[in-house]
Amino acid sequence: MKDLQKVNNLCSGCTACKYACPQNCIEIQTNTEGFYQAFLNPNKCIECGICHRVCPMEKEIKKTIVSCFAAASEDVEVYCRSSSGGIFSLVAEEIIIEGGSVYGCAMDSNLVPHHKKISRKNQIEELRRSKYVQSDLRDCFSQIKKQLKEQEKILFVGTPCQVSGLYLYLGKKEYQNLYTIDIICHGTPSPQMFISNLRWIEKKHKKKLKEYEFRLKTEKSKETGKYCYRYVFEDDTIEDGVYYRDPFFNEFYDMTNLNECCYSCPYATENRPGDLTIGDYEWGKSHHAEFITFDEISCVLVNSNKGKAIFEKIKNIRRTETKLCYIEEKNANLLRPTNRPKYRTYIFEDISKLGYEQWAKAYFKSIRYFKKLRIFQPIIKMKIYLNKYVKEKRR
Ligand SMILES: Cc1cc2nc3c(=O)[nH]c(=O)nc-3n(C[C@H](O)[C@H](O)[C@H](O)COP(=O)(O)OP(=O)(O)OC[C@H]3O[C@@H](n4cnc5c(N)ncnc54)[C@H](O)[C@@H]3O)c2cc1C
Ligand code: SF4
Ligand code: SF4
Ligand code: SF4
Repeated sequence: MKDLQKVNNLCSGCTACKYACPQNCIEIQTNTEGFYQAFLNPNKCIECGICHRVCPMEKEIKKTIVSCFAAASEDVEVYCRSSSGGIFSLVAEEIIIEGGSVYGCAMDSNLVPHHKKISRKNQIEELRRSKYVQSDLRDCFSQIKKQLKEQEKILFVGTPCQVSGLYLYLGKKEYQNLYTIDIICHGTPSPQMFISNLRWIEKKHKKKLKEYEFRLKTEKSKETGKYCYRYVFEDDTIEDGVYYRDPFFNEFYDMTNLNECCYSCPYATENRPGDLTIGDYEWGKSHHAEFITFDEISCVLVNSNKGKAIFEKIKNIRRTETKLCYIEEKNANLLRPTNRPKYRTYIFEDISKLGYEQWAKAYFKSIRYFKKLRIFQPIIKMKIYLNKYVKEKRR
């Protein structure tokens, strides 16, 4: 790709420009940090400016919140198999019952997170749960445009930059048959780093992975109260572990391996692009006692009349109106983008210099890792307490 130049330095890889370009001169390729990014071939470009007009990092689609809810699925299977309250699945089910199809993020047979279309209820499981990796949108935007023109009902679920990119690509025409959900998003990690991590796990265990789960509601996650991964190997053996025992997941948690554009995300605000916004709201239980029996619950922001109509239709749900300020207590990404940690400057350089295996080895010997181990937690808590005490004494 030597002759191609970047379209936008802060590209989220949404694909809108690729499908909008009349000259077909934009390609989505992985950059040096392994993120999907738009590159253009200047030889074919006629400088029409369309790629900039449809770019969600240059122009934003933003709606205004109408109402906010605390919610969780009362369908036990849906609830147990979802990342938080299972609201995505309930909306997806309603769209499918009404004859529509749903676009969301699944993993393919090589465990590459990508967006795909489903139209049957038994396929919802593929899209369920968060894949904490930048999703490959492939040709979803052009497929969606075709289907909308054929009057098909569609639900698209993705990060706010993806939802906004879709609207900008579709243009000014308002499609009554398009429904969108954006997720509250603090950033997406590198897909190439995720693949390197899969190879590292397979080498360490000397067997092939067939599933990688970021956030299942397992015994381990209940016991520790922390995000826990699940590896399922081809011989059907399972390993569950706390996030910091997986180097990739740990960096996601520490926010050091996110796409550069995520640290200045234009969608870290209360004005959302989707008809609905969904996110975590575990702390909502302290405001709404009726959810006390649930481990996790979701927040739902209703941002349009269409969003209101579809949310009112869904069944098997426990919901109660809540306040935006309650949701924002622990969801800072509705107010500001994620802070860029110091280690973000070096992480991809380190991996490229050392190779993934050596880099992972170094991580397990680092102070960052030891600080997270349970046995060191009381010492760290004591240190924080002593620091506070000394500061207060000095005042
Ligand atoms: C990268 C990322 C960062 C997030 N950051 C936050 C946050 O800071 N605060 C917060 O409250 N919530 C965040 N979430 C959302 C949270 O993890 C849950 O997905 C959300 O609470 C909805 O849960 P659910 O049980 O209703 O749906 P689930 O069953 O968990 O469904 C999740 C939906 O998200 C879609 N999805 C999954 N992975 C991706 C991906 N990589 N790219 C695009 N779409 C995807 C799926 O298609 C599905 O439609 C994030 C999610 C992702 C993927
Ligand atoms: S300016 Fe026009 S022709 Fe050139 S890359 Fe952008 S959309 Fe394509
Ligand atoms: S439109 Fe999307 S893919 Fe193209 S430059 Fe902007 S963010 Fe990147
Ligand atoms: S943080 Fe912003 S730019 Fe990054 S993936 Fe999420 S919505 Fe897109």
